[in-house]
Amino acid sequence: MPDQRLTLMAVHAHPDDEATGTGGVLAKAADEGIRTVLVTCTDGGCGDGPDGVKPGEPGHDPRAVAAFRRAELEASCAVLGIEHVEMLGYADSGMVGWATNDAPGSFWSTPVDEGAARLAELIERYRPDVVVTYDENGFYGHPDHIQAHRITMAAVAATGTAAKVYWTTVPRTSMLEFGRMAKEQGLIPEDAPDFDEMPDFGVPDEEITTWIDVRKYAERKRAAMAAHASQSDSAMFLQMSSEVFEKVMGVETFLRVRDSTGAATPEDDLFAGLR
Ligand SMILES: [Zn+2]
Repeated sequence: MPDQRLTLMAVHAHPDDEATGTGGVLAKAADEGIRTVLVTCTDGGCGDGPDGVKPGEPGHDPRAVAAFRRAELEASCAVLGIEHVEMLGYADSGMVGWATNDAPGSFWSTPVDEGAARLAELIERYRPDVVVTYDENGFYGHPDHIQAHRITMAAVAATGTAAKVYWTTVPRTSMLEFGRMAKEQGLIPEDAPDFDEMPDFGVPDEEITTWIDVRKYAERKRAAMAAHASQSDSAMFLQMSSEVFEKVMGVETFLRVRDSTGAATPEDDLFAGLR
């Protein structure tokens, strides 16, 4: 018999993105009996090595990095209660401009149609009611995030079954507050540029359609981020006190870009109109 439960599918680029951007909504959905599916597109092979060795440095072995990042991903998903983890297994393309962008097998060099066809198969299998991915800039311009966005939007269009589709985003006011607070706490250097000077970061609050309070799940989100211990990206967040972490990471915000439920916005539930 087919699974009749509501289903949430999150499509992410690398092992660890599930925790940072959507750890709260995934844990919340899992607790509410919603079936959760994570699709991780790349193997994360361009991440840091276990001893902090950076990609491109001697001793950095992308295959070894991918292997332990897979174990970290499994630990993170266990903390969050994610039921199904699907890895598309593309090679991590690295940051914009790296030679790995165009390496054979890299996600970035994979035709969108090909990636979308594989994701469409998973959408047909799980029939998610709600799909979450990045915006067209991948939030901060990482090629794999942009590619994850592209294949997701193509697969959603081809399958046509998801009732709601969301892009992760950050409200502009939170970015400004976060920047101020991080400087105050010494988490970023005093002379780092202020977010006020970077008008492209975050979206105006009034454009945000969906605000999810995940404070109840903040500790699990933090534990999931901590499971990706080999990666330095989240170190700053893990240094925060529980109180500050909850403040910074306790609300997850989204742009609703597809909807067949008619639920009014702003909304406080990804499944508004479906329950
Ligand atoms: Zn990523």
